[in-house]
Amino acid sequence: MLSYLHAYHAGNFADVLKHLSLVHALDYLTQKPAALFYFDTHSGAGLYKLKGAEAQKNQEFTNGIGALWELDLSAYPALERYRSLVRSVNTSGTLEMYPGSPRFASEILREHDKLALCELHPREHEVLKNNIGRDRRIKLFKEDGFQQCVGAMPPPQRRGLMLMDPPYEDKTEYTKTIKTLAQCYKRFATGSYALWYPVVERKAIAQLWRAAVDSKMKDVQVFELGIAPDTAGRGMNGSGMLWINPPWTLKKTMEETLPFLASTLGEANGTDGYFKVEQLSS
Ligand code: SAM
Repeated sequence: MLSYLHAYHAGNFADVLKHLSLVHALDYLTQKPAALFYFDTHSGAGLYKLKGAEAQKNQEFTNGIGALWELDLSAYPALERYRSLVRSVNTSGTLEMYPGSPRFASEILREHDKLALCELHPREHEVLKNNIGRDRRIKLFKEDGFQQCVGAMPPPQRRGLMLMDPPYEDKTEYTKTIKTLAQCYKRFATGSYALWYPVVERKAIAQLWRAAVDSKMKDVQVFELGIAPDTAGRGMNGSGMLWINPPWTLKKTMEETLPFLASTLGEANGTDGYFKVEQLSS
């Protein structure tokens, strides 16, 4: 199908949750000198123009990074760190650009780390290629991320983090995600895995969580952030990150940061936000 374009959504509340947790985990994992492998199954374009026609259509970033841009975040170091990486692509000080997951990862990873990025959409793939430029650490694939990631496990580094961020254009993606993660986990159980999901239909999420528990993957945690009450039910007002084997510091960081984000981004939306932190398996 491939009709999804992330430029419409870049920097929204869902990106804040996704990229905040990604940045925290990569910062933690790069504290150890040993090399790290990062796999991005659905990479997107890598960098987005918030002044562009797509981002301007619904201005979703205003309930996301836009609401955090000027705030004093010193009480929330993980959030401040995430914002500092967004600021690094906005050197004039005005919020005009928003980095995608490959950009956050390439900023944090070191000279001896490696990145593998999959983007199937031909045009997005070209844009990603241009946005990355020359970077010898990165391998770019115009392949199906669900298939490509399984073959990449275990990575030679034996230390790794994988982000799975599909567009959920068709319903089969809900089952495909956990099936694929379980296959990767079977080959590489010490890796960290992160899956983004939309909160639109609770039934689909309950099935996703159940599938993760039934797959016997250990240490599965979920973090959700919404900009309207969980019962609001019209369109996507919330999203979640399902983490498998995350750094031990992530849960505490999210517990400290999510209440603030739910109230701040909810307020920017004119409603009450919500958050959830759950340990699905230990
Ligand atoms: N991860 C990105 C970020 O955080 O900045 C955003 C990714 S966006 C939600 C999903 C991307 O997956 C789209 O650019 C879409 O073209 C791409 N895509 C869709 N199906 C794919 C597949 N099977 N394999 C790889 N990429 C795919």
